[in-house]
Amino acid sequence: MSKDRAEVGNLQNLLSRVGAGLDEFLKFEHPDSLVNKDTWRTALEQPLPQHGAGIDEVTRELVELVIPNGSQVCKPGFTAFITTGATSASTLASTAASIAAPQRYTHTAFNYIEELSLEWLAQMCGLGNMKGIYSSGGSVANLVGLGAARQYAFEKLGHDPARDGVNRTVSVYASSECHHTIQRAGGVLGIGRRAIKPIACDELGRMRVDALQAAIDQDLRDEILPMAIVANAGTTNRGAIDPLKSIGEIAQGHGIWLHVDGAYGLPGILDERLSHFYEGLELVDSIIVDPHKWLGASIGVAATFVNDRNLLERAFTQEPADYLEGSVDDIVTENAQLEHSLDDFGIRYFNYGVELSAPCRGIVVWALIREIGVEGMRERIVRHNDMARELAEFCKQHPRLELLLEPTLSVCCFRYVAPEIGDLDRLNQKIHRRLVRENVYMPSTTRINGQLALRPCFLGARADHPQVDGLIQAVIRIGDALVAEQA
Ligand SMILES: *Cc1c(COP(=O)(O)O)cnc(C)c1O
Repeated sequence: MSKDRAEVGNLQNLLSRVGAGLDEFLKFEHPDSLVNKDTWRTALEQPLPQHGAGIDEVTRELVELVIPNGSQVCKPGFTAFITTGATSASTLASTAASIAAPQRYTHTAFNYIEELSLEWLAQMCGLGNMKGIYSSGGSVANLVGLGAARQYAFEKLGHDPARDGVNRTVSVYASSECHHTIQRAGGVLGIGRRAIKPIACDELGRMRVDALQAAIDQDLRDEILPMAIVANAGTTNRGAIDPLKSIGEIAQGHGIWLHVDGAYGLPGILDERLSHFYEGLELVDSIIVDPHKWLGASIGVAATFVNDRNLLERAFTQEPADYLEGSVDDIVTENAQLEHSLDDFGIRYFNYGVELSAPCRGIVVWALIREIGVEGMRERIVRHNDMARELAEFCKQHPRLELLLEPTLSVCCFRYVAPEIGDLDRLNQKIHRRLVRENVYMPSTTRINGQLALRPCFLGARADHPQVDGLIQAVIRIGDALVAEQA
């Protein structure tokens, strides 16, 4: 076969070669990609190919040069980001969709599963009958939720903001710990980043309800339109869950849209010890969760849920186009009985969000839940929450470790302490650098009440109890060594 023609089959053989390369990667025996960077960069640094190298060579380069020099993020000891390497079920499902369903539309099993998996996800996360739409991540999912909020708030004033633009100043109330994708959504939606009013938090990082009420009262006096309240179900920094019920009652009392950012923490509801934190979800107007965080999906899978998708349609519809609506509508009205999968678009997700062509993400969520069920997800979430608590308890007992924040979910903030060291922030910063370079246990850092904290967030499907002990031992060993070096 000419090397200038793409291979369009032979997947059994090719995927098994890539699969073997990935299995090898998952042994985590490769050094970090920067160790051998001169070798792989020299090999990959090619001028624009005028002629193809062929699929064999592409496969070889993937397996030998690219995969082994991939990311540390899916290592069991990596706890810095709230993202995680995909599980096998997720990888299988997204691979299948890339060929068998290049679009999520028309009457196919994929379009059906897109909806079914949204229903499962809603049920699993305590959202009842809320209706969903997938998108690429928490950033877009928050944008979609706030787009619905904007539509709701302006329609009440007889104005269509999606069609005519926003015509007055609004406020969105979010805790000072909210994820900054909320601010960006404000920018994109034309209300401005500054419309996001930071509301003070208590010592655990939860929105203060009295401060929220005061901010709303002030805006009402100033004739600024309260557009939405954004509450967190698991902040990125600390895993804090805002008092959803009290916030929901305020929202309801004023007729303000309540959006909840549960990108990381919504699945925490599966841990029955924590379910009281999630009371009030029935008062929510829109809410997001990222399956690519705690649920183990490949990156690029988030979901927004609302009570009424018609509102999303008004917020996000394009003007009708000949190449979309015109291409099938008349067939469907003539044929009450659908006879071909292309007779109809199926569920028109393109009207509910900001993407037209998009991968089938539901198949990934379907595969994840189908593989281990709700009980399997619960086991993982409880395990990770337990890991944070195990670390917290250890810190309370050990003279050289200090717990800086009681864990709510699977984030634990702590630091190494030594009476002979004045600048503990700098010491912990150095410990963190060494941890990362050792390339086994990699938390992030943050500040808790002004103090530098080591911040592991346990959530990868591969993360298990031995990583807690390993992290503790590594921090003590490095901390002790740094103290000895300074003595
Ligand atoms: C990760 C995160 C986001 C952003 O999600 P992306 O998938 O990274 O776009 C938003 N909110 C919270 C609370 C998050 O943890």
